[in-house]
Amino acid sequence: MLLENNLNEAKEGKRVSAVGYCVKDKDSKFEKFIFSRHAMGENDIVIEILFAGICHSDIHSAKSEWHKGIYPMVPGHEIAGKVVAVGSKVSKFKVGDYAGVGCMVNSCGECEPCKRSNEQYCEKGMVATYDCKDYFHNDEPTYGGYSNNIVVSENFAVNVPKDAPLDKVAPLLCAGITTYSPIKFSKVGSGRKVAVAGFGGLGVMAVKYALQMGAEVSVFARNKNKEKEALALGVKKLYDSTDSKAIEERFDFIISTIPTPYEITDYLKLLRVGGEMAIVGLPPTEVDPKIGASGFIWNAQKKVYGSIIGGIKETQEMLDFSLKHKIYPETEIISVNQIDEAYTNLTTGKAKFRYVIDMATLEK
Ligand code: NDP
Ligand code: ZN
Repeated sequence: MLLENNLNEAKEGKRVSAVGYCVKDKDSKFEKFIFSRHAMGENDIVIEILFAGICHSDIHSAKSEWHKGIYPMVPGHEIAGKVVAVGSKVSKFKVGDYAGVGCMVNSCGECEPCKRSNEQYCEKGMVATYDCKDYFHNDEPTYGGYSNNIVVSENFAVNVPKDAPLDKVAPLLCAGITTYSPIKFSKVGSGRKVAVAGFGGLGVMAVKYALQMGAEVSVFARNKNKEKEALALGVKKLYDSTDSKAIEERFDFIISTIPTPYEITDYLKLLRVGGEMAIVGLPPTEVDPKIGASGFIWNAQKKVYGSIIGGIKETQEMLDFSLKHKIYPETEIISVNQIDEAYTNLTTGKAKFRYVIDMATLEK
């Protein structure tokens, strides 16, 4: 439960106290962290966080694998909870509603991508949910969802119906939208052959959306650990990605969710001419996969593009679509004390799909 004084702070226009779990540097373990969030503005809402998913991006960020992180860092951008306070001009939410927050909490709102609800491609840069300077609030660092509350503009929160399973909704806010968006962008549909590279938190969502769109879906994984789960979902075949030369099938669309080093051209070779590959997995900068002119030329007339989450409008669409078709992530609920263990499992091949933190386990 959100502390009573958090609510009073919000209503009085004061900074909102929060408690969460943070890392103090790239090598440290998680520890309890008391901090505060910016005051609730007239367009803001305060959400009591009930569940927060653990995305592999949290690990890349916490360990400074992409850039030097801002510490102390409270990761978490798969947030689901209950609205406990609303600013005077808020129209989308009322107290008691359920809401979700993903990877961004603001953007300039004025550039071309923002106007088209492609806030993730904001020319000034989106304000990421954590590990980011918030240019709307004196560049103070943002803190994510491994915490008891968040103060966010209503424009960056999505409406969640009251009967939705919140623990399952949380991972949709990143894993869901990140796979849904390119699958829609590439018009994946009936009769198309799709392959999903990397079968973890994002991968399983890509499989489910592509199947729902009517495609025939295969998986590329570097081991057979989750073959049973893949086949049970309706996947045609789980291929060994370490022996891609042995794969004779060709695909219309491949989505890579791989978070470790790999050869992009190994996958481009598996596209049919005219096929498309979407890259969403982002390995550490030091081992960022490269592709040269020859990689493109010898895979001519195949398109490869990157994709970052999705805009707010599309995130709401994805959530409504997922709930309508009961497309949910595969989750395991953990307590705040198990975050370190979850990170270890996610980097040593011991994890299945998505860990979701039950915020009720956060002692006050
Ligand atoms: P997970 O750890 O849940 O899943 C990754 C999966 O990839 C695991 O099943 C892992 O299996 C598998 N894998 C790892 N290396 C390889 C490899 N070389 N070949 C084939 N499979 C491999 O991570 P997430 O799904 O949460 O995230 C995936 C990536 O997507 C991360 O880099 C993350 O930062 C990025 N991401 C990008 C977003 C965007 O907007 N573009 C948004 C969200 C995430 P195993 O280790 O057992 O082999
Ligand atoms: Zn994520």
